Amino acid sequence: MVKISFDRDLCLGCKTCELACAAAHSRVNSIIGAIKENKISRIRIKKVSGKIKLEQCKLCQNPKCIDSCPTKSLSKEENGTVKVNYLTCTGCGLCKEACPFGAIVLGPFPTLCDRCAESDEPLCARACPTKALKVKAV
Ligand code: SF4
Ligand code: SF4
Repeated sequence: MVKISFDRDLCLGCKTCELACAAAHSRVNSIIGAIKENKISRIRIKKVSGKIKLEQCKLCQNPKCIDSCPTKSLSKEENGTVKVNYLTCTGCGLCKEACPFGAIVLGPFPTLCDRCAESDEPLCARACPTKALKVKAV
């Protein structure tokens, strides 16, 4: 399982990670591709009451998002990430409401971090200029 640690003291709030995520999930792996394809970043850096906060799936052991889905469209992958079955998902948003970490965005269907399953490492961490995001295999 690939966990990502976040050091808020190192984070500049530059959002390079968000751009890298959107680009990585576009068909041509580029920012332009992400814009053209309307790709949403699966990681968000926010400032809340002056503090930087990371919103990204934490690969919960007992995911509340999965339990909340009325159509059983969410399931856990072998690598711990949560997969969405877009054939049965209705986009109701109950999973987004159930997630305690704000990790799901609706666009209009749930989108969440897949730890860049098709790459050898999560590209948000690779792109971070200050190493505020670090990959840990657990
Ligand atoms: S989306 Fe939220 S509830 Fe579901 S596994 Fe990720 S962090 Fe946990
Ligand atoms: S790329 Fe790194 S420094 Fe920039 S916002 Fe993301 S975590 Fe923070």
